[in-house]
Amino acid sequence: MALLPGTGFPGGTHNSVFLQPETSPMKLHILAIAPHPDDIELGCAGTLIRHARKGQATGIVDLTAGELGTRGSGELRLQEAAAAAKVMGVAVRENAGMADGFFRNDEEHQRRLIYYIRKYQPDIVIAAALSDRHPDHGRAGRMIADCCFLAGLRKVETKAEDGQPQQAWRPKRVFHMIQDRMHTPDIIVDISDVFEEKMEAIRCYKSQFHAPDSEEPQTYISTPEFLKQLEYRDALTGKLIGTAYAEGFVCENIPGVRDLDQLIYPELA
Ligand SMILES: [Zn+2]
Repeated sequence: MALLPGTGFPGGTHNSVFLQPETSPMKLHILAIAPHPDDIELGCAGTLIRHARKGQATGIVDLTAGELGTRGSGELRLQEAAAAAKVMGVAVRENAGMADGFFRNDEEHQRRLIYYIRKYQPDIVIAAALSDRHPDHGRAGRMIADCCFLAGLRKVETKAEDGQPQQAWRPKRVFHMIQDRMHTPDIIVDISDVFEEKMEAIRCYKSQFHAPDSEEPQTYISTPEFLKQLEYRDALTGKLIGTAYAEGFVCENIPGVRDLDQLIYPELA
């Protein structure tokens, strides 16, 4: 799969992986945003796969190329990200070209992220965790939530790739993934029937996770235990709602339903 350079935020260094030909700006139902390629796969690949299977357009913006990762390289991570995107069936995956470890939740970075939110006009944003082991995760989680609000203010001016002003857009919902640290989920999505595909997407990151023949240094996430623990976590989350596997999300705004019947889970009834 080709990585198409230079189609992102004007003036930035970007790589875009368009899995469909780029025509007019594509509206997405769900846009998932996180700092490092592989964050999305670990935290919400199952949910993205489920929505893609419903025929809904999903996409990903990775804020950085994960170039500070101990194993592999930024370039390799982008290739692995493209392969994983294909497994998850996302329509688009872009890289915002921010600096791994050093991006900040400041105006410059916020304007860059607002550009992507307005470009894809998602109804739902899945964001990084609000606090986590890796400081990039929490910082990104806060920045993404801030930008989802700011993107809706029409006096915050940003430009599209063709130089035209972008329209204000505020996603209806922001759900934060649960990443390394356990958080109590506010809502849980059953991913039992797509769990194998989720693991296949994760295994696309050959440079990051356990590979017996790798000569690179062992890291926190490259031990054989890491992927096992991820499976246990998704199984335990599933146990909370009576399913085999699930992904949990944290919401700053409590989700509502029209009536209690929408919460009746057929398998539990
Ligand atoms: Zn990460």
